[in-house]
Amino acid sequence: MSVKTMQTEAVQALLKKAAGLDKEGGNPRFKNIMHRFLSDIYQMIEDLDITPEEFWQGANYLNELGTNKEAVLLAPGLGFDHYLDIREDAKDELAGIAGGTPRTIEGPLYVEGAPIIQQGDKMDDGNTPGQEMLLHGCVKDEQGNPLANAMVDIWHADTKGAYSYFDPSQSEFNLRRRIRTDENGQYVVRSIVPSGYGCPPGGSTMKVLENLGRHGNRPAHIHYFVSKPNFKHLTSQINLAGDEYTFDDFAFATREELVVDANPVNDAKLISEHGFKGEYLDVEFDVTLVKTDEETIQQAHPRARVSLEQA
Ligand code: FE
Repeated sequence: MSVKTMQTEAVQALLKKAAGLDKEGGNPRFKNIMHRFLSDIYQMIEDLDITPEEFWQGANYLNELGTNKEAVLLAPGLGFDHYLDIREDAKDELAGIAGGTPRTIEGPLYVEGAPIIQQGDKMDDGNTPGQEMLLHGCVKDEQGNPLANAMVDIWHADTKGAYSYFDPSQSEFNLRRRIRTDENGQYVVRSIVPSGYGCPPGGSTMKVLENLGRHGNRPAHIHYFVSKPNFKHLTSQINLAGDEYTFDDFAFATREELVVDANPVNDAKLISEHGFKGEYLDVEFDVTLVKTDEETIQQAHPRARVSLEQA
């Protein structure tokens, strides 16, 4: 039985009071957002005839989601991270600063303050099992000129799909490193090939995805922040080609231009030159940065992040 009460004086007054619009004080922007938020939820309850039982299921779910600290995992799963990227792309277009390597989602697993290493150094601690990988590329401007001294901040998972810090069994900053490009715009690091991963089984995110008939898996990928003064900060990641989920990422992060091959190399001379034990995979990812004078977009957008940076 569907009833319509939204447009009654009582409900409209309730919404205004609930959002504090009948009072001085508080944060006007927040009040505005909250009034809209509550109005939309109330309207949905009316339109979809949400039962009290369904409503309380939702409220209890939010409690559980917070306890499991999975809100930042559910968000990409529901497309919010990618939607925000679509909006940023459209803003860039409007401001005439579109172009360069495409951005894609940061994800919730970045840790600030990773060690800065030299060209050719390792990203792993030497005790991390996995197929060895040479990860390299050139950072350029839109005219193709190499950019020296750009900061390339790279982080990725191990072969279990787990990230250091969030996986306490790994050493501090394992598979998280920063490197500055050389005078030719090049960066070269050695690491191990990461695996993709899935949302925690039985967790709050999986509960939602299962009810949507969806999976919670990501393909193997490597995250990047790339920055240099007077250029637009780039948040991106590459997906390794050939993974079952390369084009079926639950977090919607895959972009055609960011799918990169991992090519096996078994040339003995190259293997010894890079100090590898045997055959390794060569992964090349060039980055194009876009010039800007606007200072606020030269760094990653503000967001709560784990920081282990020494004060
Ligand atoms: Fe990731």
